[in-house]
Amino acid sequence: MKNIPTLGVRRLIALLPALFVVAACSANPATGKQSFTAFMSPEKELQVGAEEHPKMIKQFGGAFTDKAWNEYVRDIGLKLASYSEMPDLPWTFTVLNDTQVNAFALPGGYVYITRGLLALASDEAEMAGVLSHEIGHVTARHTAQRYSTTVATNLGIQVLGVLTQAAGVGGAENIAAVGAELALKSYSREQELESDMLGVRYLSRAGYDPQAMASFFEKLSAHQRIEGLIAGDPNAAEKHNILATHPRTADRISQAIDLADKNGAGGVRREVDRYLAKIDGMVFGDDVDQGLVRGTAFVHPALRFRFDVPEGFSIHNMPELVLAVDKNENSIKFADAPVKDVREAGSMDRYLTQKWSGDANMSHVEWLDINGMKAVTGGATVWTGKRNVEVRRIVVEQDKEHYWRFQFVAGTEDFQRLSEAFRRTTYSFRTISRSEAAAVHPWRLRVVTVGRGVTFNDLAESMAVDEYKKEWFEALNGIGTDDPLIPGMRVKVVK
Ligand SMILES: [Zn+2]
Repeated sequence: MKNIPTLGVRRLIALLPALFVVAACSANPATGKQSFTAFMSPEKELQVGAEEHPKMIKQFGGAFTDKAWNEYVRDIGLKLASYSEMPDLPWTFTVLNDTQVNAFALPGGYVYITRGLLALASDEAEMAGVLSHEIGHVTARHTAQRYSTTVATNLGIQVLGVLTQAAGVGGAENIAAVGAELALKSYSREQELESDMLGVRYLSRAGYDPQAMASFFEKLSAHQRIEGLIAGDPNAAEKHNILATHPRTADRISQAIDLADKNGAGGVRREVDRYLAKIDGMVFGDDVDQGLVRGTAFVHPALRFRFDVPEGFSIHNMPELVLAVDKNENSIKFADAPVKDVREAGSMDRYLTQKWSGDANMSHVEWLDINGMKAVTGGATVWTGKRNVEVRRIVVEQDKEHYWRFQFVAGTEDFQRLSEAFRRTTYSFRTISRSEAAAVHPWRLRVVTVGRGVTFNDLAESMAVDEYKKEWFEALNGIGTDDPLIPGMRVKVVK
């Protein structure tokens, strides 16, 4: 969880002129097709990419600060791009400090890959396959096509966001969703197929084994199943993962590889040793400066606080807020209350009732003492358009520079049942001591060699993750429960 990014209407309006620059419809050098990118010239693509780049980094948890990883990804990325039809673009490859598994591209050669995705790959070829696919989106200029429609869509979303906010249920996520939409809108099937073809082409030219695209896809599918389990619904995966932004099927990937084979393309390089040496010791999951989810607790060692959510709620740590939800869509949202806004409001209760809640009438506003910290709370009944929900909001002052806000939302009947649990969550919020903070460590990936007699279950059970140990072991290694573990082979575990 970091500070709430300031994205909004102003930014979208600033982008609009880009749409009205008319360029000729021309044959794309990568795909050989006439492409409809009339709303954005290559010059505009460069400009838009450069403008959006810092915002993207901010929005997705910042850039990963590990210098060695950044250089490694950049070197491989530049090498692959040099085999593309646009070697002279000012290509930029960025590792995002995000635990989600995702990769995306902006116009003008900006390619992003998350730390969460790097954890899943088992060799350089698998990582290179993802980078090549993203390079394909850039060279085919899908980003230019998608960008136009996204900006138009975003204007609609923004209007909805404002309305929900006025109704009192909107929170930080509405603001963030608008910016996220730019990167997270999914490509069409045709565009995905095109990018896979181009990806295989660049991967092969660089001497890598194109089968890496298929083996990595299996890991993505296994990871998608974990997300379904976390969401409590096998079919509901995270909206923001790579298979949502890049809808692909195993079938289509093998189609692209077959085509490459027919053309006599394809190398053999996988570079397992080099990749595993890099991944050994890499942070897995949340890092200390992002706050960590540990069971039903959220602990933030850098900002020195923690709180617990009720049983039955699963916690999602996002860059701009912490969200906990149960299976009935009852939710707890936690985010910072910007100190600037609290000061502008003049007092915490005015911040709660006016600045944050706007037109929603907060009733029963009262002051609380939460473990020695001043806090104020209020509640409202809100019609969401679907159902009546009870909303309870709390603003708490950790110190004069740090204010936090909780929002509890539940259907009217559930709220009766949950109110005591919500109260316990509120009063579980406390500052932690320096030594308590120092005792919290992130998880790390470790590469281990399988010993004689060691089973899948042995290794899976040794993992530090709270839940779904077997599923995680499968996703990280592409090894199924029934696959034999051969002594001497190397696998990734979380410690
Ligand atoms: Zn794609």
